Amino acid sequence: MTEFFIQTLKSELATPKKVVIIPHKNPDGDALGSCLGWKCFLDQMGHSCAVVSPNEYPQFLNWLPGQEDIIKYSESETLGKKLLKEADLIFTLDFNSLGRIKPMNEIIKSCDAVKVMIDHHEQPEDYADLMYSAPELGSTCEMVYNIMEALDINKINKTIASCIYTGIMTDTGSFRFNSTTSTTHSIVSNLLDLEIDHAQIHRNIYDTYSFGRLQLLGKALSNLVKVEPLNAVYITISQEELDQCNFKKGDTEGFVNYGLSLDGIELAIIMIENSQENIVKMSFRSKSTFNVNEFARKHFNGGGHNNAAGGASFQSLEATKEKVHQTILEYKDQLQ
Ligand code: 5GP
Ligand code: MN
Repeated sequence: MTEFFIQTLKSELATPKKVVIIPHKNPDGDALGSCLGWKCFLDQMGHSCAVVSPNEYPQFLNWLPGQEDIIKYSESETLGKKLLKEADLIFTLDFNSLGRIKPMNEIIKSCDAVKVMIDHHEQPEDYADLMYSAPELGSTCEMVYNIMEALDINKINKTIASCIYTGIMTDTGSFRFNSTTSTTHSIVSNLLDLEIDHAQIHRNIYDTYSFGRLQLLGKALSNLVKVEPLNAVYITISQEELDQCNFKKGDTEGFVNYGLSLDGIELAIIMIENSQENIVKMSFRSKSTFNVNEFARKHFNGGGHNNAAGGASFQSLEATKEKVHQTILEYKDQLQ
């Protein structure tokens, strides 16, 4: 975080402002945790804040403090537009490309508000007036913590700490990914000092599967394919399989990681059919130097981080599966 960033932010926040905070579409723990923690912090400073999410969020996040006040643009477009038009400041958290908040992306461009990006993905787009981009950090929540610390550490209360802890925990794979540093653990130590219930937070996120979700995991695992002789696997889930298991948003979260839990596997991909949007949503994960950000960008309309990325295909599930298989084979030098 640069001195320029924090000084400019301080002067923007010197008088009460109308603020809108936006997570990416299909928000995850880091996106919602950072937005809700930041809202709570700004509320305490006397600003008037709203979190406007492009769409619904998964059930395993519906306990986060303040989530009940989130405005879902997909359901309340008129209110969402009004808030955006009237805002003095717009914070975009945990994404760096306006394509990730469709269909809110067009409105944002025409808003007069000062736009502030806080994000940890690679290769940020140039849409913000003020930017804090840190791809080396494991979560946007860690970045938001850094900002709060620079502004006024005493305002970080138990509610904020619970939100920030959630994002750090989920985006670091419960503190096991490379992006977890000693600083991450120091921050977490400070959060624990605020007496958050970390065991309950973990249970809320990871031990609240529905019966259908567990059945869907069974189907996903039985569809696992290894691309012989390479260290790569992929999983497909069809719309029919989703329907059979009473699919709800968020039910497939984390499924792709099972591929990487296999001994020696370096690359895991999941393809999930979405008939309503006519796309196949994809997630990419890798263990070491295989760069899935580049892979997703080059072949599957996506991006993300070196070891975790997402994307989409506009072909059928079958055709996407075939393309994935053939594309993996093109990387045989890196995957054996
Ligand atoms: P996930 O696979 O969990 O949806 O996403 C993994 C990472 O890639 C996340 O950091 C997420 O923000 C990013 N990501 C997911 N989908 C997309 C996408 O369609 N485009 C881009 N650029 N990034 C994505
Ligand atoms: Mn994140």
